[in-house]
Amino acid sequence: MRPADRGQIVLTLTQLRDSNAAGGGVHVLTGAGSIKGKADYARIPSQAREAIRQRLQAQLGPNAELRIPIEAGPHNIPVAQRILRDGSGNPVPSWTHGEARGIRAGEYYNNPAARQWSTLNPSSTTTRVHGGAACFGCQPLQQVYGVINETGFQFYSGRFDRFGLNPHWNWG
Ligand SMILES: [Zn+2]
Repeated sequence: MRPADRGQIVLTLTQLRDSNAAGGGVHVLTGAGSIKGKADYARIPSQAREAIRQRLQAQLGPNAELRIPIEAGPHNIPVAQRILRDGSGNPVPSWTHGEARGIRAGEYYNNPAARQWSTLNPSSTTTRVHGGAACFGCQPLQQVYGVINETGFQFYSGRFDRFGLNPHWNWG
């Protein structure tokens, strides 16, 4: 695996606003990076998918649902539909990031993104760029779409500041 590939596994978990028909919370798992410029991001390890599914169901109940847009099945999002676009129809600058993809998934499912967590991949070559904290491109997306960021912003030193109140919109 090339070092550049290892850097593609920054994951974002997005909680959608509404529960499913069975009353379980709905979350979406997306990854950062692009494969050969396509709107694809296949490098979410199967162990990570399973770990997060099991954890969500253990914590939220058996009806908790984890949707992964790249997986086959009823919640697959076609590649061309995975790109978050601005009002002019252009891809937003950080469209390859997990946050933008989670927000786009919420649009596609007609169930808006409400809350996001992003992970740091220890082996990533890009963690000093992204670090699991929302980048300068994703932070304004979260603000515009009303998504609460639970794991921090690069702009605020890239850490989750439990004692801070910045940015104000993230804390109500
Ligand atoms: Zn970003």
